[in-house]
Amino acid sequence: MAHGAGELTIAGMEPFSACDWPGHLSAVVFLQGCPWKCTYCHNVSILDPRAPGQVTWAAVRDLLSARRGLLDAVVFSGGEPTRQAGLVDAARQVRAMGFAVGLHTAGAYPRRLAEVLPHVDWVGLDIKAPVGKYSAVTGLANSADPAFISLQRVLDAGVAVQVRTTLDPMILNADDVEQIRETVTSMGVTDYVVQEVRTDGTSEVFVENLTRFRRAHPVEPLS
Ligand code: SF4
Repeated sequence: MAHGAGELTIAGMEPFSACDWPGHLSAVVFLQGCPWKCTYCHNVSILDPRAPGQVTWAAVRDLLSARRGLLDAVVFSGGEPTRQAGLVDAARQVRAMGFAVGLHTAGAYPRRLAEVLPHVDWVGLDIKAPVGKYSAVTGLANSADPAFISLQRVLDAGVAVQVRTTLDPMILNADDVEQIRETVTSMGVTDYVVQEVRTDGTSEVFVENLTRFRRAHPVEPLS
């Protein structure tokens, strides 16, 4: 049975963003739920898949109708947006309204990603670590497999992609980042960025651990 966008559980919406898709003025729709628990997750309240939605799909459509000419894109983010089946219809509807479609994903659901890719213009895909360190970041065994399958699907589909790694210095070092860069470059990625970890919105435990780590290692591996 096809799932409609009206079934989406939407945690929130940012009506105007210039940074979630480089070069685009976007509205950002945050979809509730993620199967992973990354050490540095910036919004732990968005992870629970059973939490109720805060914004209706009708409200998203109303905002887009009101912003025609002011926005050029919608970015679906999360959480992990590919967790929800209604994403495919939502992306289709956004395109039909005349907006480009961006997608932030960590690649946890390659099959759903493949379904939505024909309706997506750009993907920001997290590759979180070299394979051997993936679960240390995500808290879940074998999470590298779907992430790399997802990246291959995006490349096969010919959709523009930026691959990003958030550097948790407690887990990753400069060699790890180079290994990721070499791996994704050899797969065909031309846009790879490393993001410094931020503490806003992260768990108290993470902030405490990172503060302690930075005191003990005043010069971080990549600085
Ligand atoms: S994949 Fe993203 S939303 Fe999910 S736990 Fe990791 S950082 Fe948070």
